[in-house]
Amino acid sequence: MTELNTPARMHEISKETEDIVDRVLEYGRGRILDGGADLGRPLTAAELRERAAGTITEDGMGAEHALSLFERVLAPSCITVDHPQYLSFIPAAPTKAATAFDLALSASCVYGTSWLEGSGVVHAENEVLAFLAREFGLPDSAAGVFVQGGTLGNLSALVTAREHAKRERTERGRPLPRRWRILYSSEAHSSMPIAARVMDVEATVVPADADGKLTGDAVRPFLDRYGEEVFAVVASAGTTNFGGVDDFASLARLRADHDFWLHIDGAYGLAAMLVPERRDLFDGVGSADSLTVDPHKWLFAPFDACALLYRHPQRAREAHTQQAEFLRILDDTESWNPRDYALHLTRRARGLPMWFSLATHGAGAYRAAISQSLRLTREIADEISARPYLSLVREPELSVVVFRRAGWDAADYAAWSQRLLHDQLAFVAPSAHHGTPTARFALVNPRTTREQLLEVLDTMA
Ligand SMILES: *Cc1c(COP(=O)(O)O)cnc(C)c1O
Repeated sequence: MTELNTPARMHEISKETEDIVDRVLEYGRGRILDGGADLGRPLTAAELRERAAGTITEDGMGAEHALSLFERVLAPSCITVDHPQYLSFIPAAPTKAATAFDLALSASCVYGTSWLEGSGVVHAENEVLAFLAREFGLPDSAAGVFVQGGTLGNLSALVTAREHAKRERTERGRPLPRRWRILYSSEAHSSMPIAARVMDVEATVVPADADGKLTGDAVRPFLDRYGEEVFAVVASAGTTNFGGVDDFASLARLRADHDFWLHIDGAYGLAAMLVPERRDLFDGVGSADSLTVDPHKWLFAPFDACALLYRHPQRAREAHTQQAEFLRILDDTESWNPRDYALHLTRRARGLPMWFSLATHGAGAYRAAISQSLRLTREIADEISARPYLSLVREPELSVVVFRRAGWDAADYAAWSQRLLHDQLAFVAPSAHHGTPTARFALVNPRTTREQLLEVLDTMA
């Protein structure tokens, strides 16, 4: 670099900064519109040290060099999560509109924390949240906020639940329990025990039934045993491992005799409520006190976004509003401050990419895309059942298929998975159920085809 390092060099508009912006946008355009990005595979730490070490220097390497390092080394060593043959964990499949708009959002430098600073984008995010609340059968008063992910959304909801239990029991003159407790299913997401640990509350795992569902009958004895210690029961709308949906209606009915907060973790699967095909599975969702769904999973938004909704948003404010002299200017009760509804203050308006895409294409396009994955899942499950060397572990409820290959042990699944990635045919991380290894497809990408999946099944013959 030959220029003098004037204080505003990186900020002012100059030939240098214009070139940087052009190159980065050009890369972004190419990546968004290129349907053929490689699946990719990780490099080792040693390989990356060799190919991309020493990037931080006093004088800088220049944008051309840094970007080319990203394009040639760093990006290809990341697995392309929106690749149609990415079938592991829960994939992402952001729409072109949502991804492109993410760039626009970044460019706009919006502070998504308060109405004062971000009214327009907060309004737009709230449009999406209200749309989701209606789809889930929550009352018009329901509202919430977009947070980073389901883990933080679940934790924020449970913090609200405990604060509400404390307040309500204190107001009614009831003693507070020595230890608070949450109940969740043996198939609940790993973010539940973590939330309990962070909150320092007891966590009781309630056995799911043979179909993997948490039912009112299973939960009732625990409510009877632990009484007022239990401030929340967490149910899943789409477990991560199986895509199983709990029996919400039977859980909600328990509240006739027991006082608890019903939180529904729908990070992955609640999206399926947008289509009619599986609507019956979701009976009772509308009676939740809070729920979460991750747009970065099956609602086609880029990382990272979890929509957290509360039946009574006031209760979240009571738990989460940060008080400080310098924040008092935000305390206008007329306005809606996203900071009040979760564990955060500064926040990206991460609901905006979904807003833009949903506003652009309309809900119908979303419904069609979700239906497509449900249909494909059904077809592949039938195909698995029809192949003598494969068997389903469970009938899929949503878009996760879990199956076994006769005669394979964990090492076989691991070697098969590595081979698939090595051959760039698919990314299928093996899973396990009750300690027995399984293969698993999670399907959310509308570009994933039956042929691609059959090709993967063929490799198991
Ligand atoms: C993915 C997932 C989570 C965690 O969400 P993050 O966005 O990864 O933090 C929680 N619950 C369920 C059911 C999930 O599928």
